[in-house]
Amino acid sequence: MKVAFYGTRGSIPVPESDYVQFGGNTSCILITFKNGRIAILDAGTGIRKLGYDFTARSIEQYDNIFVGLSHTHWDHIHGFPFFKPAYDPRRHFTISIYQEGRNTNNLENIFATQMQHDYFPVSLDKMGATLNFWQTDITNFTAPSGVNVIPSKHNHPGDAYGYRLTEGKTTLVYCTDVEHVGGIDPKVVAFASNADLLIHDAQYTPEELKDKKGWGHSSWEQAIEVAMQAGVKKLALFHHDPEHNDTFLLSIEKECQRVFSGAFLAREGLEIEV
Ligand SMILES: [Zn+2]
Ligand SMILES: [Zn+2]
Repeated sequence: MKVAFYGTRGSIPVPESDYVQFGGNTSCILITFKNGRIAILDAGTGIRKLGYDFTARSIEQYDNIFVGLSHTHWDHIHGFPFFKPAYDPRRHFTISIYQEGRNTNNLENIFATQMQHDYFPVSLDKMGATLNFWQTDITNFTAPSGVNVIPSKHNHPGDAYGYRLTEGKTTLVYCTDVEHVGGIDPKVVAFASNADLLIHDAQYTPEELKDKKGWGHSSWEQAIEVAMQAGVKKLALFHHDPEHNDTFLLSIEKECQRVFSGAFLAREGLEIEV
């Protein structure tokens, strides 16, 4: 499968010129499976550019496109009102989140609320595409196209969810907005076990993390620890802090690669074969 990073930033978009190398848009990833079908993970502001790229990428998948969400904090849903394909009446999307332990608002309400007229001129039901909202409790399922999906809840204020996607012999694990409390969470390590690519939250430096307890994020050092314990081949450090400009992130990347050669920092526009 192929992974294209459209948004790698955490918390808030940062459009400044010294942020362009790693990108200023918030979380959004396009996955293109070997069978030709696509799925999207998170709908941060990166999904706007992805929408414009639908034509260039000749995405003909009209029947159903999955948009899987880690959770519904702003930086993971904020781009959706600007996602052009959702205004195309020919398109169908299933916007989904794993439900385990979730007792807050339902997903459709959350999307409708961010587009109510106090915040946005066009309401959700006027977008045009068919939007299905799916809050599943299924812990392990294989889609008709042959892709196996395992979701897992992890620690984050309000909860967040990781996704383990396997197509044939290839496994991608997406695990962002995760805080390890009292040492590396063994559940996250088991979830990422032997993945070909792990995309893991790395918002803070180890020093910054000391002052950000309870904020729901990891340090790059913890992300590497997870990757090494889980025996993953490659690690994409993800959800960069809005305070970290390109120069800073380049220095972090060097340090990460010194510790774990399979590590790199996710960059907006980067596309890799897993
Ligand atoms: Zn986030
Ligand atoms: Zn969050």
